[in-house]
Amino acid sequence: MAQAKREKYVRVMRFVTHYWMRAPGLFLAVAVSRILSTLIDVSVPWASGALVDAVSLGERDAPGPAINALVIFVGLAVLFQISRQCVTFLLNRMSARAITAIGRDAFSKVQRFSAEWHANSFAGATVRKITRGMNAFDTFTDTLVFGLVPAIVVLIGVTTIFAWRWPLLGLVVSVCIVIYLVATIAVSVYWIRPANIIAREWDSRMSGTIADSISGNQAVKSFAAELREDKLFADVASKWERASILWWDRSAWNGLLQAILLMVLQASMLGTGLWLWTQQRATPGDIASLIATQFLISGYLRDISQHVRSVQPTVNDMDDVLEFRDTKVQIADKPQSSALEIKAGHIRFDHVTFRYAGAAQPLYENFTLDIEPGQKVGLVGASGAGKSTFVKLIQRLYDVDQGRILIDGQNIAEVTQASLRSQIGLVPQEPVLFHRSLADNIAYGRPDASQDEIIAAARHAHVDEFVKALPKGYATLVGERGIKLSGGERQRVAIARALLSNTPVLILDEATSSLDSLSERYIREAMEGLMEKRTTLVIAHRLSTIQRLDRILVFEHGRIVEDGTHAELARRPNGVYRHLLETQVGSTLISDAAE
Ligand code: ADP
Repeated sequence: MAQAKREKYVRVMRFVTHYWMRAPGLFLAVAVSRILSTLIDVSVPWASGALVDAVSLGERDAPGPAINALVIFVGLAVLFQISRQCVTFLLNRMSARAITAIGRDAFSKVQRFSAEWHANSFAGATVRKITRGMNAFDTFTDTLVFGLVPAIVVLIGVTTIFAWRWPLLGLVVSVCIVIYLVATIAVSVYWIRPANIIAREWDSRMSGTIADSISGNQAVKSFAAELREDKLFADVASKWERASILWWDRSAWNGLLQAILLMVLQASMLGTGLWLWTQQRATPGDIASLIATQFLISGYLRDISQHVRSVQPTVNDMDDVLEFRDTKVQIADKPQSSALEIKAGHIRFDHVTFRYAGAAQPLYENFTLDIEPGQKVGLVGASGAGKSTFVKLIQRLYDVDQGRILIDGQNIAEVTQASLRSQIGLVPQEPVLFHRSLADNIAYGRPDASQDEIIAAARHAHVDEFVKALPKGYATLVGERGIKLSGGERQRVAIARALLSNTPVLILDEATSSLDSLSERYIREAMEGLMEKRTTLVIAHRLSTIQRLDRILVFEHGRIVEDGTHAELARRPNGVYRHLLETQVGSTLISDAAE
């Protein structure tokens, strides 16, 4: 456990150093200027002591030394402010640069993770991990630069000066500081933090309870459950109340402990100083500088346990984003991969075996199939039969366990994924649109397309019909995930996208949700236009749409149980396709009648 924790800290420190070192010059400038500014801060009390000595030992009619001491005192104070400001400006640049790099690296890595990884991760959680990791780096760096490092420099600096001038005082001060640090950090980490974690947990639960009830308000109302929900919330809120009181009380006790220890430090420092004065080993100026130093030390010490506490959660947050960095991209291009060249569009599954991670049985076992160039193939079968997996394997969203998938004789595992996927057009069941303009969405597969080309594709896909009604035409933003368009309209945009991409291989996944008959006719016409001269695979949910295809493959549990044209399969007695056709005949008749 302790070992794992140590490893985590080491990992995070390595991560932080890596990003600091992205701009080594800036990092060096921040470090040097911060240490310098702290040393200046340490020297201010000594300058004040020199001023007191100059005043108490000097003559009133010869104030030269006192004026010099005053100039030095004020000069140091000004220098301290200037150097501190420089640290801030330098740090702003260093942090901003590093945080951008963390975000860019994590985003770019996560984008390249496999479809499997994305299927198993919550998008919201991934976004939160990345943004929290970026913020945590910022807090960590700030705490170190403005809190911990200066505190350490001050403590070492002051004790060294004392030890050198008055060894006894050096000993007293260092013992007091060590006791203070050990006590307050231990209390902070082992006593306050656990209470803080519990309070935070109840805090999230409280927000969660509110969100859950408010977003489910419709159900609350229809069951007249307001009182029940009130009680549920009151229970959670009272637990939050108890946890928060515990946390705040512990923090308050810690404040008292700190105050007592600081008073002990002050008393021992000044007491030793007075004793040194009685022994004539300290001047009034020395006492003045001791008083100023003790204020300085108290200031740095007071915040140190707070700094330690704020650094702890940042380590966890950074560890999350670090996980992305350390995770290998599951499906990676081989180093010597070349680009896929598709001339004809022949697809071959060659003795393919594939099992989903976690599944007991392979879905495909020793599966062999040829699809001829330009062939239009319908994939049918019950839900879960393996149709989607079949097309995902062609896109290499998953790697096969055995065997090969060849396109025009080239193994898709040996070519670059970009060249493979950019030559396979896809019209998914639920097309993903971005909250960008309609034109940008259509041109997603070919960002360099001209406006005329975009409009031509849109016309072919019957997008033009509904664009005319939109306030800004092709410049209209489609809303998050295309929410402002209907299901049928989104599919037509996806078809326009595929038309514009003009890929030699095409995968169409029919929408399962029922569309109005006009939309369906538009989509069918658009799809037929799209399929021309391409090897096309259509995952069919309505058999009426695939009767005109060259070939139909009937899937069952990852196997092809029937393979032929619609006419052949429809005639086969006791055939699976024929059975499917009979169960769907009602809907076929309805959609045919609608034409
Ligand atoms: P279809 O498209 O014919 O409905 P799929 O190819 O989606 O069928 O699914 C085939 C089988 O693989 C199903 O049993 C399904 O539960 C399983 N499956 C699909 N995707 C995954 C996944 N990401 N992880 C594990 N099993 C999966």
